[in-house]
Amino acid sequence: MSVEVRGLSKQFAPGDQPAVQDVTFQAPTGAITGLLGPSGAGKSTVLRLVAGLEMADRGSIAIGGEDCSHTPVAARGVGFVFQNYALFDHLSVRENVAFGLSVRKAPRSEIDDRVQELLRLVQLEPMGDRRPAQLSGGQRQRVAFARALAVRPKVLLLDEPFGALDARVRLELREWLRQLHAETRITTVLVTHDQDEAFEIAEHVVILFDGRVVQAGPPQEIYDRPINPNVAAFVGGANVFAGQVRHHQAQVGTLAVSAPDLREGKKVQVLVRPHDVKLTLPTRRTAGHRVGWITDLRRVGGYVKLTVELPTGDFVQVESSRAEIDAMEISAGTRVVVDFQGAQVFADGDDDYAI
Ligand code: ADP
Ligand code: MG
Repeated sequence: MSVEVRGLSKQFAPGDQPAVQDVTFQAPTGAITGLLGPSGAGKSTVLRLVAGLEMADRGSIAIGGEDCSHTPVAARGVGFVFQNYALFDHLSVRENVAFGLSVRKAPRSEIDDRVQELLRLVQLEPMGDRRPAQLSGGQRQRVAFARALAVRPKVLLLDEPFGALDARVRLELREWLRQLHAETRITTVLVTHDQDEAFEIAEHVVILFDGRVVQAGPPQEIYDRPINPNVAAFVGGANVFAGQVRHHQAQVGTLAVSAPDLREGKKVQVLVRPHDVKLTLPTRRTAGHRVGWITDLRRVGGYVKLTVELPTGDFVQVESSRAEIDAMEISAGTRVVVDFQGAQVFADGDDDYAI
């Protein structure tokens, strides 16, 4: 069942900046949609509006094509898992998972079967009799998932479900969630401020800044064609240089990037991903202006992060493979020639995407 959100707005108090402004997006049936944005962007508010935990000032929400803007939480058919969605400490894992079904007075044998099925699904079969306090943080969140799924919700809403866990467990649970989703195919909306998490797990990503949707689409498309410099910098990090169009090229100092559609003299921002910066050693024929100095070089596992200072005073962040850097025999202080192998040009003052 898809989730369709149209023109959703929410202001918590008069005079406040609205937390959510005219938000429209669709979470496709059977997919994981990532709602991604910096802290304070309004992600949780959107999710709580979809869940029915908050009421919108304007706009509508439809689940499976049916408007549910005024449907109370319990009747919306949504399951949710929050970062700190506490389990009942005095109940066993089994009882926690069964909770929603018991409240609905389902027959005992039906509850037992369903709980067993869910414990298998979240890979906690041997833990059914434990109390939450006897589980790790990751296991507790998996119980929370089982509890959310118990009542067969139409939609699963996840608000930073792994946010309180340490980095290693978070990575494990990303993979776990992908498997869980492959088995259930339940329409899911995942709120996160972690770009890697959204891009790894979600098939569809909605980017929220300052309460507004700025871009939505498949993760790769957003990465390859961000709509503005802010999105580009937020997803994947980017070098941002101020430049100007001359002779159909955006020029940053003396580095030039093709910009055929922009008028002469237009001020632009040029975005270059760290892995799109190519370094070579200067030769006698290299013009001096593209030569910079390595001011920092750090090996991070299989790749190397470098900073190069250009004569313009700009600093360029570079990511390169370890093999490539080793072959060049360079280190901090080495002079290198900088080339941009991929770049995006944004005209200042609007969000036009040029290349
Ligand atoms: P995110 O989840 O993206 O970090 P939130 O949706 O939690 O963002 O918050 C968006 C904005 O709305 C923030 O400025 C936050 O302070 C405000 N806000 C959220 N919930 C409330 C509330 N219950 N009362 C007042 N302001 C709130
Ligand atoms: Mg939040």
